[in-house]
Amino acid sequence: MPTEGVIKFQLEHTPADPLPDNLIAEINPWRKWMYERGLIGIVQIPEGMVGYGNISLRVEEGFIISGSQTGHLPDLTAEHYAWATAATPEENRLVSRGPIKPSSESLTHAVVFEQHPPARMVMHAHHKGIWLAAERLELPLTSPDAAYGTVEMAAETTRLFAESNVKEMGIFAMAGHEDGIVTFGESAEQAAAVMEKYLALAGE
Ligand SMILES: [Zn+2]
Repeated sequence: MPTEGVIKFQLEHTPADPLPDNLIAEINPWRKWMYERGLIGIVQIPEGMVGYGNISLRVEEGFIISGSQTGHLPDLTAEHYAWATAATPEENRLVSRGPIKPSSESLTHAVVFEQHPPARMVMHAHHKGIWLAAERLELPLTSPDAAYGTVEMAAETTRLFAESNVKEMGIFAMAGHEDGIVTFGESAEQAAAVMEKYLALAGE
């Protein structure tokens, strides 16, 4: 992978109190729903154990998202969510507040919220079955050259909204991010229903 010219994730994070309970109550059951299905979790790679997957909810200003390094936890609390108040995906820049830092994959969520104003929930899951079947299922696909957490991934996600029927499908796959898929919807139920539909179509 070329590293020259790659803009590192520019996070301006301000430590702050946890988010209000009513917002946590809206997102947390769905994070649990993902964890129970292995869509969020932890995996062994040569470098060690890494968590994967995250979930976000649009709020009045920006969005709230599960915190970095939380994939291994069966249950999250208000301490595990960050509030992304501003995002500039084309500069790989995110401004956030809260008791924990947001994932560097937050910018993909930011692009979905920016490109699709009705979207209220975004789920980034890892699922080998859906990912491997992406072409057969005709999922919109980001370029294999776009790695996670990069400006290229943000640009590719933006491109899908311009060039594919991703809005209607509510799902896309990340060819350059192994097992990476994203679903979204105007409600949590809708984002989850798209996920369930494709889990079934992938044969699970
Ligand atoms: Zn991922």
